[in-house]
Amino acid sequence: MIRRRTALALPGLLLARPAFAVPAEGLVQGGLVRGRVAPGTRLALDGKPIRIGPGGEHAFGFGRDHAAEATLTVTPPGGRPEAQRLAIARRDWPVQRITGLPPAQVTPDPDALRRITAERERLAAARTTDSARTDFAAVFLLPAHGRISGVFGSQRILNGEPRQPHYGFDIAAPTGTPILAIAAGQVVLAADFFFFGRLTVIDHGHGVNSLYAHQSAQHVAEGERVGAGQQIGAVGATGRATGPHLHFGLSWFSTWLDAQPVLPPVTG
Ligand SMILES: [Zn+2]
Repeated sequence: MIRRRTALALPGLLLARPAFAVPAEGLVQGGLVRGRVAPGTRLALDGKPIRIGPGGEHAFGFGRDHAAEATLTVTPPGGRPEAQRLAIARRDWPVQRITGLPPAQVTPDPDALRRITAERERLAAARTTDSARTDFAAVFLLPAHGRISGVFGSQRILNGEPRQPHYGFDIAAPTGTPILAIAAGQVVLAADFFFFGRLTVIDHGHGVNSLYAHQSAQHVAEGERVGAGQQIGAVGATGRATGPHLHFGLSWFSTWLDAQPVLPPVTG
């Protein structure tokens, strides 16, 4: 029944298709949209111009708590702007309780807080990178083999205290397990942070970047170019971690996104 309705609906959808349609799978809280438009097309999301690559490549995303709607303005080459209302599907985020963390990592002292603030600013600056590279348009690779031990968006209760949501997803694996770049790019941050431990951030272009935290070893330095699937480090438990795992983050500029739907399934 469902299959038949889909088949009947499809020709109508094709006939009514606008000049440019956003893939539905990205229209969700935490969703990343990647696509191509005819070169010369201009896009703006909620009034913010979206960078378009030479082949029409572009990317944008919707945060964990994005409102139910967004407006995409599409201006075809030589044409007039056309506003599309995008419905952003709401998600229910799970609650994750973690206990047994050292108290100083849940409620840091003033010295640690100063360090955390400085690190937060450094990370924020790295994530403003807006390069012309189009590596984000490639099929992403799995950053590490292991098992999923934490998902994007969960509301976290650490040692019984509510803390900010989890903006990445976690792959538990033995210390030393290789960490691979999900796509080619350039290292924009390689540091040792209070919460993230040893972390690396790679710019894949147009504001899309990936973050790899809690590493036991880092194999690339800031400014270095990396290839897709290149080993950039090794799984560890540095920073705030209860055991060895990779915390993987994906973002579009300052907006954290759910990486899982755009990565291959996690396997051991
Ligand atoms: Zn994590």
